[in-house]
Amino acid sequence: MSTQFKVMNPATGELVKKVNYNTKEEIKQALENGHCAFKKWSKLNAHTRSKLLKGWSQIIQENKEEIAEVMTIENGKPLKESLGEVTYATSYIDWYAEEAIRIYGRTIPASTETKRIVVTKQPIGLVAAITPWNFPAAMMTRKAAPALAAGCAFIVKPAEETPLTTMKLIELAHEVGIPKDAIQCVNGKGPEVGALFTDSEYVRKITFTGSTPVGKSLIRNSADTVKHVTMELGGHAPLIVAEDADLDFAVTQTILSKFRNAGQTCVCANRVIVHESIVGVFSEKLTEAVNRLKVGNGMDEETDIGPIIHEKGFLKIVSQVKDAIEKGAEVLLGNKYNADKEQGYFFVHPTVLKNVDTTMNIMQEETFGPIVPITTFKELDEAVDIANSTPYGLAAYFFTNDYKVGTYLHDHLDFGIIGWNDGAPSGAHVPFGGMKESGLGREGGSEGIEPYLETKYLSIGHYDQ
Ligand code: NAP
Repeated sequence: MSTQFKVMNPATGELVKKVNYNTKEEIKQALENGHCAFKKWSKLNAHTRSKLLKGWSQIIQENKEEIAEVMTIENGKPLKESLGEVTYATSYIDWYAEEAIRIYGRTIPASTETKRIVVTKQPIGLVAAITPWNFPAAMMTRKAAPALAAGCAFIVKPAEETPLTTMKLIELAHEVGIPKDAIQCVNGKGPEVGALFTDSEYVRKITFTGSTPVGKSLIRNSADTVKHVTMELGGHAPLIVAEDADLDFAVTQTILSKFRNAGQTCVCANRVIVHESIVGVFSEKLTEAVNRLKVGNGMDEETDIGPIIHEKGFLKIVSQVKDAIEKGAEVLLGNKYNADKEQGYFFVHPTVLKNVDTTMNIMQEETFGPIVPITTFKELDEAVDIANSTPYGLAAYFFTNDYKVGTYLHDHLDFGIIGWNDGAPSGAHVPFGGMKESGLGREGGSEGIEPYLETKYLSIGHYDQ
């Protein structure tokens, strides 16, 4: 087996860097080191851990431009989005630096006079993370920051397409004094590293962001050692536009939700469900606005839509669009590609499809590309049925200024994140996560640190008052 892998620029197909795979032995050693580091890190007082996290956030901000460039070169997303992601990534570190000093226990009134009952929180142990390529900075920090804040040691395996951003962030963590073994990065093939993580007696928690099938296998493999798991998995977000919606605003927000990272995010609006009375006007306005988006290399500041990460992702998009057209969808814009397999780049021009229905693959499978399929509804419960008819339950959006319509949709949509007149509901201060096959647990907000803590209950008998 090769001892190195190539990180390629998806906008040009050029080699960015060769990175060493860690050997099995090195990864096992890293896990043991992480376990030992946990013993020291967890004993540090929370204020010191908090200060170190603040230092980490600050040094990342100081190196923001360099990190963003690395991200654009390995991931392809426009530089302005990479800069936004660096800030988004540090917002998790800032938030959990504050949470570190607010991990409270409680006392419980005892049922007899001779007892005292105390509940404390303890860090869970060594946490092993596996992250995807679509947010190489933020998907790591939103796991590492609460883990370190809680007193856990942390080890991450980034995606093979985008290890450089993660490696840089971890180098900076060491630079500000977070111990080398308290936060580590290892590189290797997903299934092999996954097995080393799940088999390890040192690892007490697996936290994963990525596809649902891989998430399921990690849950299964964690069962033997009964590890805690947090799973941020796939999504297939519906976006409902009600009859009364402010259409110009809905169009702007649809674009915001749909086209980030060329449509390659788990919360991208993937199924646009519009009331039949306004579908004509909405589609026209949307197509006009989407037509202004510029496709190109993310390093060009004019670019709104970068490349698709790899050929596999590109072929899935092309086949979903082809299938939709064969089954009767009308192309309002796009269905244009600039791809060269030999050179190694794959661009998809933003595409708007009308007359889409639920028999088409694009409505059934997660879409990871800049495609907007539009379907219609007449009655609100029909929109809810379409929206809920997926195994996924991550994010859903709707646009209405009618309180009754909004509360009905909120109450009936089976999704963990709801944007009501809001196409960008994410943030470090809110609980992000999915229902159904979109995942287990939440990241962000006060909920995001709990999965890194054990609850320990102490009953003191013969308590002398
Ligand atoms: P993926 O194929 O599941 O890969 C994600 C990570 O898992 C990579 O580091 C990969 O390593 C590793 N991996 C692959 N096979 C593995 C295995 N058998 N055991 C352990 N690890 C394994 O997903 P992706 O295509 O990179 O990412 C896109 C997916 O992530 C989408 O489904 C998207 O919706 C989801 N996502 C979810 C969220 C959320 O918060 N819910 C956020 C972002 C993305 P290699 O690179 O070595 O293969």
